[in-house]
Amino acid sequence: MRATRLYAPTLRETPAEAEVKSHQLMLRAGMIRKAAGGLYTYMPLAWRSLKKIMQIIREEMDAAGGQEIAMPIVQPSEIWKETGRWSVYGDEMFRVADRHGREFCLGPTHEEMVTTLIRDEVRSYKQLPLMLYQIQNKYRDEIRPRFGLMRGREFIMKDLYSFDKDEEGMNESYKIMYDAYTRIFSRMGLEFRPVEADNGAIGGGHSHEFTVLAEAGESNIAYCTKCDYAASDEKAELTVIKAPEEEQRALEKVSTPEAHTIELVAKCLNLPLDRTIKAVAFQDDKEELILAFVRGDHDVNDVKVVNLFDESIELHMATDEAIEEAGGVPGFMSPIGLKEGTRVVVDATVMEMYNACAGANEKDMHYINVNPKRDFKDVIVADIRMIKEGDACPHCGAPVKMTRGIEAGQVFTLGTKYSQSLHATFLDENGKEKPLVMGCYGIGVSRTMAAAIEQNNDENGIIWPRAIAPFEVVVVPINGKNEEQLKIAEEIYNDLKAKGVDALLDDRKDRAGVKFKDADLIGYPLRITVGPKSVDEDSVELKVRRNGEMVNTTRAEAAAKAVEMLKAL
Ligand SMILES: [Zn+2]
Repeated sequence: MRATRLYAPTLRETPAEAEVKSHQLMLRAGMIRKAAGGLYTYMPLAWRSLKKIMQIIREEMDAAGGQEIAMPIVQPSEIWKETGRWSVYGDEMFRVADRHGREFCLGPTHEEMVTTLIRDEVRSYKQLPLMLYQIQNKYRDEIRPRFGLMRGREFIMKDLYSFDKDEEGMNESYKIMYDAYTRIFSRMGLEFRPVEADNGAIGGGHSHEFTVLAEAGESNIAYCTKCDYAASDEKAELTVIKAPEEEQRALEKVSTPEAHTIELVAKCLNLPLDRTIKAVAFQDDKEELILAFVRGDHDVNDVKVVNLFDESIELHMATDEAIEEAGGVPGFMSPIGLKEGTRVVVDATVMEMYNACAGANEKDMHYINVNPKRDFKDVIVADIRMIKEGDACPHCGAPVKMTRGIEAGQVFTLGTKYSQSLHATFLDENGKEKPLVMGCYGIGVSRTMAAAIEQNNDENGIIWPRAIAPFEVVVVPINGKNEEQLKIAEEIYNDLKAKGVDALLDDRKDRAGVKFKDADLIGYPLRITVGPKSVDEDSVELKVRRNGEMVNTTRAEAAAKAVEMLKAL
């Protein structure tokens, strides 16, 4: 490809509407243009990158036993009514009516479609397992589409559905997909973690999110510095920390004037935070109180608190009145002396403390020498704290680190949720009718491209991993009007093509500075520069976009050297 024929209008200024790096850079690099909120045209550079991402996905899905199909984007409402999701999906679903007034939607996902596709024709266990996938546009009418391709209303997705005869088979399919996803994200050259995830509304058993590590990510994840454990902060399980055993002293009330936060209490009594117990008061949707207690240096994970009771409840901070009604004093709470029947949850680590400090349920007063095992009555003990940097990995005990990430793929086991509601059954070895056991596996293709940019950029632009770069190498003659330079550049470009390298020849007549700026902005992994030295001394320069490393070689050797250097990019 020649730059004079490439449609990639670059922008020098950062468009005001773009809040995140990937959105800014894709607009500036001429990769995407907005059609309407959350709807974008992929221009040639973006489409080249997307095709490479899709190719890697296809190869791995096919190798794992998947078969590619293409289902309609427009889906009839009837199948969604069968599972009950037509009403629960709400305003996020794009709904359309045909000329007869029949209702349809633009597919946000395809569980209904694929299950009804096979339910009449998969009849026997002999036809299982079965894995079907597609790569196509999906639609979600986001209330506030933003962040460019990260949260669009139309996006490209790969979705695969597995059908097995039993749970064992489903788990095997899950493992196969998990491994395929690991290969996909590795081959794309991205730093990622499979994160144990909350299964959320989709239901079923286990789930992992394949998270691309990036500062702009919306999920907080904890990962082990030694083993491959990683989990979202909401989900991360924690081991109980046992304080060294001490002789239990008698409970004593002490004055702590105005010390209504745990930091002030610790300061007032000259105690380290990990010798104090702090309270967080919640109320649920029915305004009923839940008091949660964690060690002073820990935080309450409200998702874990919710899961202890009823996953459908929502918590908000309790009012002072509600706390007082239960016999508590805001700012000076403890489980000691509350009204009977108050729901109190204590973190398991708190129960292992000795001679700690906690509120006295009396204004400006705290207890010292609190020994939870002795002093706390009728409390629920559970892991309710939020993981933080330095906590022990639940698998191997090494310290964890915190990072942020972008969810680019997710694998789920669905069980029989959809096959039961859609009556997709088969006959097993004994001729017994059973529902198919399913899994679903998604990758946000356009989102992955955005995530790759979020992870790989600097002040000058994008830094593509080679495998998904729109072009692997750009060849830049410094003076595009100089026939000799142009000729050498052309030779190298042809050599690269002959070696199967995806190269771009920047044959524009623009100044060198403009071409270099564009090369950095678009982020080709390798730049080959042809200048006066190439003409006079047979020396061309190869420059790595990621680290600025420069190598000089002859024009005859340039393509071979580029191939060698690309291996590491
Ligand atoms: Zn570990």
